[in-house]
Amino acid sequence: MKLPMIMAFAIGLVAGSACTDARAQTPGFEVAITVDDLPAHGDLPPGVTREKVAADFLAALKAANVPEAYGFINGVYVAQDTSTYKTLQMWRDAGYPLGNHGFSHMNINDVGLAAFEGDIAGNEELLTSLMAGEDWHYLRFPFLAAGTDPTLHAGIMAYLKDHGYKIADVSINFNDWAYTDTYARCMVKGDQAAIEKMKLQYMAGVKASIAVARYGSQKVYGREIAHVLLLHEGAFTALMLPQVIREFEAEGARFVTLGHAERDAAYADDEDHAGDGIVIERKAREKGIDIVNGAPTLGDISNLFELCQ
Ligand SMILES: [Zn+2]
Repeated sequence: MKLPMIMAFAIGLVAGSACTDARAQTPGFEVAITVDDLPAHGDLPPGVTREKVAADFLAALKAANVPEAYGFINGVYVAQDTSTYKTLQMWRDAGYPLGNHGFSHMNINDVGLAAFEGDIAGNEELLTSLMAGEDWHYLRFPFLAAGTDPTLHAGIMAYLKDHGYKIADVSINFNDWAYTDTYARCMVKGDQAAIEKMKLQYMAGVKASIAVARYGSQKVYGREIAHVLLLHEGAFTALMLPQVIREFEAEGARFVTLGHAERDAAYADDEDHAGDGIVIERKAREKGIDIVNGAPTLGDISNLFELCQ
């Protein structure tokens, strides 16, 4: 009995050192996980609650020892259904912070400056109570829209500066939001075959998003920037999150806090359109660098809007 155990232990040691060597040869990358649309993103499949979605997110994050997942909230859902407050408290009880995503998820380009500022302010009472004693002045622009019109953008930037906000920019995104309602529809129909295909497509998207971000980072900055991953608190991402985290780890990710990632100079630039879209794409446009031709691409997601209809 003893010998095989010793042998297994020795093999394990060899495998372990090989793994360490491989990591040393391939420098990894830092990534902060951020989650938008708390406490309610998109439709729920039958029998799934907001509480279960939040619990599954937190279980996956904690199981992988993710040091922080910054949640960005829309207070309107708590106003509509006060039971969802509990899911925000669960996030806090897990030791993770919350920030502002606008009270009702407005697009600044559609509503203009005054309404958008009101929507930011409308979320603050809830954040103050949930984040008691801690700084919650991070804004994630809904739709990653930070004001296309230069005057509008300048206006909101001045407002945010006056009110002590930092912008939570994004460098990695794989359109996880697009799967949320499709998953709910496919669950209603009991179309397990469609769901299995969605899982493959989703994970291909995860892998592609890492390649896109790392390629763009090298091309635009000439180095690996600290990354910020955008997720949404939907039921399909809750289901897939353990796999998402494993894929990031397999690609060399080290999870860091948002504050740590955004101290990277890539986010410190006083740019013309801070907070608008994906930081790497924005900087590429500004510098006139082509990150499209010959580059890895995110997969097409248009099929998801027809699936299980
Ligand atoms: Zn959002």
